[in-house]
Amino acid sequence: MSQHFVPDALPTRLQHYIGGEFVDSVGGETFEVLDPVTNQPYATAASGQKADVDAAVAAARQAFAHGPWPRMKARERANVLYRIADAVVEQEDRLAELETFDTGLPITQARGQAKRAAENFRFFADLIVAQHDNAFKVPGAQVNYVNRKPIGVAGLITPWNTPFMLESWKLAPSIASGCTVVLKPAEFTPLSASLWAAIFKEAGLPDGVFNLVNGLGETAGDSLVKHPDVPLISFTGESSTGQTIFRNCAEGLKGMSMELGGKSPAIVFADADFDAAIDSTLFGVFSLNGERCTAGSRILVQRDIYDRFCAVYAERARNIKVGDPHDPQTQVGALVHPEHYDKVMGYVELGKSEGRLLAGGGRPEHLPAGQENGSYVAPTVFADVAPDARIFQEEIFGPVVAITPFDTDEEALELANGTKYGLAAYVWTSDLKRAHNFAQDVEAGMVWLNSHNVRDLRSPFGGVKASGLGHEGGYRSIDFYTDQQAVHITLGDVHTPKFGSLDDAAKLDG
Ligand code: NAD
Repeated sequence: MSQHFVPDALPTRLQHYIGGEFVDSVGGETFEVLDPVTNQPYATAASGQKADVDAAVAAARQAFAHGPWPRMKARERANVLYRIADAVVEQEDRLAELETFDTGLPITQARGQAKRAAENFRFFADLIVAQHDNAFKVPGAQVNYVNRKPIGVAGLITPWNTPFMLESWKLAPSIASGCTVVLKPAEFTPLSASLWAAIFKEAGLPDGVFNLVNGLGETAGDSLVKHPDVPLISFTGESSTGQTIFRNCAEGLKGMSMELGGKSPAIVFADADFDAAIDSTLFGVFSLNGERCTAGSRILVQRDIYDRFCAVYAERARNIKVGDPHDPQTQVGALVHPEHYDKVMGYVELGKSEGRLLAGGGRPEHLPAGQENGSYVAPTVFADVAPDARIFQEEIFGPVVAITPFDTDEEALELANGTKYGLAAYVWTSDLKRAHNFAQDVEAGMVWLNSHNVRDLRSPFGGVKASGLGHEGGYRSIDFYTDQQAVHITLGDVHTPKFGSLDDAAKLDG
């Protein structure tokens, strides 16, 4: 393997960012951050406790209640958001290097992340400037209009897969709406989040609008969820964590947006464009190391083409280049953390008794063994996987796919809907009627017909069943971070019964 790449000026100490200042934890607590290629600690991060979250929320609350940001004109806020987008793009190479170093994502796949993150800021800048709210008129009687107001301090809690880009999904609409925020990034991958502070400051975002608290979910995340001055929690992560947060939000009756796990099916009918389906379903599960929420990790293939599909798919999977994430040839890099590697490897071993192993099945043979040599898993393909198998039912979040045959459309639908999740579905067929009817019936928040996941920021993004609650994307995100107050103006006479007056009493008597 090539010499291990370490980015220049790699920070070795990561702090919180509160009220425009970098600070350590009040009590000095820290945790270690590992590099997934050596699994050795490379940095020490401040580990947020309740006191640190209290300080961050106080700064955000101050900026919301007394600062200029929520009161600025939409155009003024948009100009700041455009400058943020420009600064993110300027950091593209640096961001890709840091993201790859921290997460183990292949560098070629990390490179697109800055543009996608920047696009989120541009999109919401445009949206708030163009936004108009409803007015309802009853001529001669009443005019009612909607007065949209930012809600307050939003708590943003994010996962470790494509961390910077996923943070931008929440940061862009929340601050565009005029909220102030406290971000709690994932503890496995805090490095790229440390870039936001300088980007925001340079773009002219007032201090206190953006605050960052690093730390573990059970301490920093939990304190943020339970803080009484945080009325909104936007969370992306595992479904089981979402359930815990849901329970904890109940006490404060908080607004919640939840983007959770998935076990999305790709359904390949015999009439599909075979080559396109092979390319897309390979990319759909093995890109981003398989650590993607919308991965098409169950492939359902119609019996007529099943054997051919499995053979070609497995052959291609065996040829995928696994290795150093910084090598531009690499297609699958190192998994994010040894804990996650152990989880994925557990499923790989389980799969050997639940399916027919066609490719992979462990560490790639050309890479040295041992945790100190990185968390590598060969792209693993299991065929003939029964619908009650755990590798069919449970989210693995790694480069592992289960392939299952079907005969009829009805059977395909039953298999597709047969898990607790409902994030995405990918349908491969050249029959227009079948494609649309299947999309109608499949239990998934998002469906792609003859494609893998390609986004349009205006469309709703989110899952059904155990995959999420609420949708992000376009105006839905703005709706989440704002209240729509109804203001009523009377234009005519309003009949008001005169409670307690003698006139009314006389009328009643009469
Ligand atoms: P996770 O649930 O373990 O952690 C996510 C975040 O929640 C982290 O910042 C963590 O520190 C925090 N957290 C953990 N426990 C908490 C608690 N009790 N209170 C408050 N915060 C807490 O998820 P992960 O392993 O980081 O990410 C992978 C998961 O995220 C997968 O299930 C994946 O499908 C999901 N995901 C979903 C989407 C989507 O849009 N639906 C996108 C990306 C990832």
